[in-house]
Amino acid sequence: MKKWHMIIDVAKCEDCNNCFLACKDEHIGNEWPGYTLEQPLHGHRWINIMRRERGQFPLIDVAYRPTPCMNCDQAPCIEASQGSILKRPDGIVLIDYQKAKGKKDLVKACPYGAIWWNEENQTPQKCTSCAHLLDEGWQQPRCVQACPTGCLKMILVDQEELDKIIKDENLELLHPEFNTKPNVYYKNLYRYDKCFIGGSLAYEEKGRSECASGAQVSLYKEKTKIAEVQTDAFGDFKFDRLEEKSGAYTIVIQFKTYNKITLNVNLDQSINLGVIQI
Ligand code: SF4
Ligand code: SF4
Repeated sequence: MKKWHMIIDVAKCEDCNNCFLACKDEHIGNEWPGYTLEQPLHGHRWINIMRRERGQFPLIDVAYRPTPCMNCDQAPCIEASQGSILKRPDGIVLIDYQKAKGKKDLVKACPYGAIWWNEENQTPQKCTSCAHLLDEGWQQPRCVQACPTGCLKMILVDQEELDKIIKDENLELLHPEFNTKPNVYYKNLYRYDKCFIGGSLAYEEKGRSECASGAQVSLYKEKTKIAEVQTDAFGDFKFDRLEEKSGAYTIVIQFKTYNKITLNVNLDQSINLGVIQI
């Protein structure tokens, strides 16, 4: 049985909001009988682009994580809905807006914050994966069609094909601890939910401070070397994909024949160690 799945590459999202606007264009002022009522003019973010800054100036980056309904196979919203939210055989989860009328508590039933309350119609609403278009033969919902960077993909595949794509593209789930079996997969999620240790190396030459390019920088966790990088042309280095609040690390720096430098770092959030003078 083929099911719809969305793949979102966090590294490709530029926060242009085209997906968000395409969703508004499709659903504001338009009711899709059997699928959803109109989206209100303000307040709803059926595809919600979350933002995360990491590091400190000048070593700083920003990641954007588009977040639609995950079309979960084990959906807490369905469990809480007393029959007013249904999962279709193709994987899409839809709110029956007639049966769900007045059930404001369903907004809280989604652990991803994907359900929104329509005050005017007194109904909960959410992303429908543009099921009304897919049912007409469209290959993509409006958000995917509008994305200029290829960050969003919608695929109709069976489990075997999906398993291969997950493995080949190194896909992950958002909040696997929620245990809802989502049908949205993320690529490069570390840009949003992991952190880094970075810095810049400099040395003195003929009275001038120069970038220490090509220095060997090693990262240790409890005396075990877990990564090694070389500084780039600007003397910069970065260890990424580290867990937040993961505690003590040791960094060992070796540049040409200079004395080895050892630094202890306690990792809470992403950290720029600044310019390290060799
Ligand atoms: S993401 Fe939330 S609204 Fe969507 S199916 Fe899962 S629990 Fe329901
Ligand atoms: S359209 Fe694509 S790049 Fe733009 S905000 Fe949406 S997902 Fe990101």
